[in-house]
Amino acid sequence: MYRDRGGGGSSKGGDTSDRKRINDSVDKFPEKSSPSTSRSKGNAVTMPSNSAVTTGKNIDHRDNRSSVDINTSKNKCSDEESETDSEASDVSGSDGDDTSWISWFCNLRGNEFFCEVDDEYIQDDFNLCGLSSQVPYYDYALDLILDVESSHGDMFTEEQNELVESAAEMLYGLIHVRYVLTSKGMAAMLEKYKNYDFGRCPRVFCSGQPCLPVGQSDIPRSSTVKIYCPKCEDIHYPRSKYQGNIDGAYFGTTFPHLFFMTYGHLKPQKPAQSYIPRVFGYKIHKL
Ligand SMILES: [Zn+2]
Repeated sequence: MYRDRGGGGSSKGGDTSDRKRINDSVDKFPEKSSPSTSRSKGNAVTMPSNSAVTTGKNIDHRDNRSSVDINTSKNKCSDEESETDSEASDVSGSDGDDTSWISWFCNLRGNEFFCEVDDEYIQDDFNLCGLSSQVPYYDYALDLILDVESSHGDMFTEEQNELVESAAEMLYGLIHVRYVLTSKGMAAMLEKYKNYDFGRCPRVFCSGQPCLPVGQSDIPRSSTVKIYCPKCEDIHYPRSKYQGNIDGAYFGTTFPHLFFMTYGHLKPQKPAQSYIPRVFGYKIHKL
């Protein structure tokens, strides 16, 4: 079903060997920085190879993740083999065809915090201003996100496909952080908030308050995503280690605060209680 997504999780080598591979393949990558492509409008910039290497570090996580997904879906299929075989394969076949890259990506384990960005938003060059200089293989990555069949697709080696996949994840994140500040994006995040998709505050006196994702920096690769509790107004680590690997810059420092400015009625009251440490029932007095 997802076999042609994410390189099938075949790369389970160590970090160093992957880096070497990526370094090697950066040189082999065909140039696509010509201003003739309609979408780039001449602002495509060839990225320095070191950024590709840094992005490449993420490949392993994602690949493992997608391979887990493949296994799960395989297991599901075999569990449901009481149905006729032809029916089962029909279902999985049509699923694979209908899934856009965006919804596939948002449904990967650990990517629960991402909402699905509208195709229309991504197709508007204005919204992507400046991103072509931040993301390697920008044009390929954009084609992948928008499910545009690339004429170069057959030329790519598996390694190059992985690099483009990794660049697409970064590009999607950098589009996402902008999108969630728009009214449409914020509405999409509101649905997820109502669904507790971002988890709840672990603090006892916050009584399971739903949280929102937040970045501690707007610069990519500075820190991982955290969850912001509007009740105690503090940030916490996400519960899932998969979510904990996501870049905080894909959500940004502004989002949860603009969210509660927009949906003011959702802002909870400050917690009435706070925890008081006691020894043998007596409050502890600081000297
Ligand atoms: Zn809290």
